[in-house]
Amino acid sequence: MSSAIFNKSKIIATIGPSSMDTDTLDKMIKVGMDVVRINASHGDHKMHRTIVDNIRKLNAEKRYKIPVLYDLQGPKLRIGEVKGNAADLVEGAAVRLTIHPCEGTAALLHVHYTKFYDDVQQGDPVLIDDGKVELLVIGKEPDGVVLTKVIHGGVVSSRKGINLPFTKLSLPCLSDKDLQDLEFALDNHIEWIGLSFVRTAQDILELKSRIAARKMKTRVVAKIEKPEALRDLDNIIQAADAIMVARGDLGVEIAMEKVPVIQKNIVRKAISYSKPVIIATQMMESMITNYRPTRAEASDVANAVFDGADALMLSGETSVGAYPVKVVEAMAKIIGIAETEDFIFNKQIPPIKNSKSFVSDSICYSACAMAQQSGAAGIIAMTNSGYTAFRISSQRPRSQVFIFTDNMEMLTTLNLVWGVRAFHYDRYESSEDTITDIKAFLKKRGLVKDGDLLINVFSTPLESRGMANTIKLHVI
Ligand code: PEP
Repeated sequence: MSSAIFNKSKIIATIGPSSMDTDTLDKMIKVGMDVVRINASHGDHKMHRTIVDNIRKLNAEKRYKIPVLYDLQGPKLRIGEVKGNAADLVEGAAVRLTIHPCEGTAALLHVHYTKFYDDVQQGDPVLIDDGKVELLVIGKEPDGVVLTKVIHGGVVSSRKGINLPFTKLSLPCLSDKDLQDLEFALDNHIEWIGLSFVRTAQDILELKSRIAARKMKTRVVAKIEKPEALRDLDNIIQAADAIMVARGDLGVEIAMEKVPVIQKNIVRKAISYSKPVIIATQMMESMITNYRPTRAEASDVANAVFDGADALMLSGETSVGAYPVKVVEAMAKIIGIAETEDFIFNKQIPPIKNSKSFVSDSICYSACAMAQQSGAAGIIAMTNSGYTAFRISSQRPRSQVFIFTDNMEMLTTLNLVWGVRAFHYDRYESSEDTITDIKAFLKKRGLVKDGDLLINVFSTPLESRGMANTIKLHVI
């Protein structure tokens, strides 16, 4: 069982002080949460460990399959401490930004990045606190001080984030903190690791090589939130295992009016590469304090489903908000209605001839085409690596997608993927026995019934556990 509600588009909820106890987590799962996200930028490893332990306990006790997405902060810049925790930056005033630690004031702020002085150029904008305050670099003074002018003023407080949309940063993709967080994630066998502020595919390859060095296969989510990432999008999608449209920082780093079109393009591209895609940030923002979402939020959630997102993400709404259960419940209801629309199904992405995976891609494509044409109740596939599940899901079949695997980590990992319901199965003897077992299993759980058409995708001979090469259509 994953969650009591079963929509095709999945819900990722960020867990924090409002939601980390087992009782609340259980309620959130029951109303539709599919993935738990931990934002490594907040809290410490002790708190993160409690969340992981609580979700694993529920998975074990209630046979849920909820994975954890552990989101690394990446090269995020921040200002330092601010005197009295408030500095009022007034439009037109001069503000000095120094790389040397100091207690910040409206005239002088510390920037937590030693190469800030070298990297910024005259004319570069410096955005503080999600762009609420905007400065413009007008020059450099000796000894690591950058002179700026306030373009749009406001009050800034300690440790607020900085965005430098036009500056090429020489920061590494993984900070010392990220490396410690990565160790934590790998030690705890986290299923998905997110990387913030990805700039090029190389960032993903570096993270993956560190994971591989630990002989692990943890899946990586590339968060798209920088203009540079948009320029290397195809390579990033191919290098990553999933993509996140991180609209919060994206809408600060590029003009906010471009976000909707970029969202649509990223979703389309990710699906064409059979990579899961997540839409994140401010989906139900008003429910941090309100009992109901706004109509505009309901439309945003439905539109993400219409775009074809695999998963929709909640941030502050569930981590610090007043109604963590209600917000998941409301999101699941909106998704459920959106999924009654026909046009979201059957993407019909053809396999690429001469590609290494052509045979198996062709099988997955044909299985979905057959499901559409025959009105099959379910597509059943066996996988160890998860590849077949990703391929079938990306065709967005209307039929149920039942994935059977002997890979325990894959069971939870796949819960993030559109439409997929994964089950454990390890009897790889003959295809006939397996099909009989699986039919009985699904029937017993009420997931299929007598007379239903089913499509089986598997590899023959079954024992060789190769790539999918066979399709069988049969009636229960
Ligand atoms: C975002 O910027 O939209 C995002 C998801 O990142 P974070 O929550 O880490 O700021």
